[in-house]
Amino acid sequence: MLSKTNVEELAIFGANSLFSTPKSTSNLVRPDFETFLSYSKLFYDQHRYINDHAPVELLEQRLADFHQVDFCVTFCSGFWGLALAMTALALKGKTEIVIPSLTYRRMADIAAWAKLKPHFCEVEENSLAANAETVGRCINQNTALIVGVHPVVNCCDIDGLVQLAQVRAIPLLFDSVESPFESTLHGKVGSFGNAECFSLHASKLLNGFEGGYLTTNDAILARQLASARTFGVDEEDRVTVSYGLNAKMNEIHAAMALASLDDLESQISRNRQRYFTYQKLLASVPGIRLVEFLETPPTSYKNIVIEFLAEWPLTRADTLKILNAEKIFARAYYSPPLHRKQMTYAHLPASLPLSDLLSEKFALLPCGHLVTCEDIHQIVEFLSFLYISADLIKNRLDGNNEM
Ligand SMILES: *Cc1c(COP(=O)(O)O)cnc(C)c1O
Repeated sequence: MLSKTNVEELAIFGANSLFSTPKSTSNLVRPDFETFLSYSKLFYDQHRYINDHAPVELLEQRLADFHQVDFCVTFCSGFWGLALAMTALALKGKTEIVIPSLTYRRMADIAAWAKLKPHFCEVEENSLAANAETVGRCINQNTALIVGVHPVVNCCDIDGLVQLAQVRAIPLLFDSVESPFESTLHGKVGSFGNAECFSLHASKLLNGFEGGYLTTNDAILARQLASARTFGVDEEDRVTVSYGLNAKMNEIHAAMALASLDDLESQISRNRQRYFTYQKLLASVPGIRLVEFLETPPTSYKNIVIEFLAEWPLTRADTLKILNAEKIFARAYYSPPLHRKQMTYAHLPASLPLSDLLSEKFALLPCGHLVTCEDIHQIVEFLSFLYISADLIKNRLDGNNEM
C-alpha cells in the first residue's frame, strides 16, 4: 500500500497524487449488465421507447412497493419532480416556500421554477436538518408550502414536521433524495407528508443514470403529477394542468434503475463494509469526527460525512485542497449555505448563524462503487499524516502564498 511520509511527497507541492484514478463522493453504483439488458429488452422488443411502457410502469410499481406507498410517479430528474410537486402542492394565492439553507445547492432554484419565494430556515445542530421548531419560526400568512429535506446522513424529524404541517394546515413535501432506504418507527420513508421526492441520478443510492420519482398516497395528486410531467395532458390528450412539461422518465433509465433496485441489498452490504472501515480507522485520527448512522432502523450507509473539530490543525479549505490534489475528491458539505449565494430571483433575506457555522465544519469523504476498503485505509492514513505534519504543511503553504 502506497502512503506518504514526507511533506515533499504531497501532490499539492508538485509530487504525484496518491491515487491515479479519482476517488469521489459519487455513488456510481454499477448493477449487473445482463440484468440491465434484460430490462431494456422489455421495451426494445415491444418497439416502444417512451411514454410509460414496460420498464417505467414496472419501476413505478416496484418503487411503490419498496416504499410501501400507494403511488409512484417517475420523472426525468429529481429536480423536475420537485419543481412539479411544489407547483402542485403550494397553497394557491400564497407566495413563500420554507426550505432549509444548509441543503442541496439547487433547492432555491427549484423553488424559483415553481414561482415560489424561498424563506430559508435554520437547521438543528445534531441532525444538520430543519425541524418543527426551525420551520415553525418561518411560517406566516404567506406560507404556501414546507419542504422537509433529509440530511446526508440519517433523517430529519419526520414526525415533528408532519405534526407542524397538520396543525398549521400547510402542505408538506419531503425531499428524501438522501434517505430512500431509511425507515422510522412509523414506516418507511416514502409515505410521509403530501409527497416525497427521490432521485435516480448516478451519484445517488439507486442509479438510473438520470431520473427521479415522487411517492404519495394521494390519488388525485398522483394523477396531476403524471399529467404535469407529460405536457399537462391526460391519456385522452385533454389539458388537465396548465403547467405541464416534458419531464417524463425514459425507458432505458427505468431499465437501469430496475437493475439497481435488484442489486440494492448487495450494495447496502458493500456500503456497510466501507462505512465500518471508515468508522474503525477514523477513531484514531484526532480532530475528525465521523457523523454516525443510527443503526437501529435500516439505513443505506452510503455517505461518509465528517466534522473537523477544533483540534484539527488545518483549515477545511486547505485540507480539501490538499486531498483533492491527491485525487481524493472530498467535498465541503452543503457550502456555502443557500442564503449566502447570489440569487437573481425573489427570496427573503435571512440571518442564519448556526447554518453559517455548520457550513464551515463538515466534509464528505469518498464513497460508493469505486472506493475499496483498501482505498479507505489509504485515505485515513493520509489524513493521519496530515494531522502530524500540519505545522510543516502550513509553513510550506504560507511560503507558497507569499510567492
Ligand atoms: C441530487 C439531489 C436532488 C436533485 O436530483 P436530480 O435527480 O439530480 O435532479 C434533489 N435534492 C437533493 C437533496 C439531492 O441531493
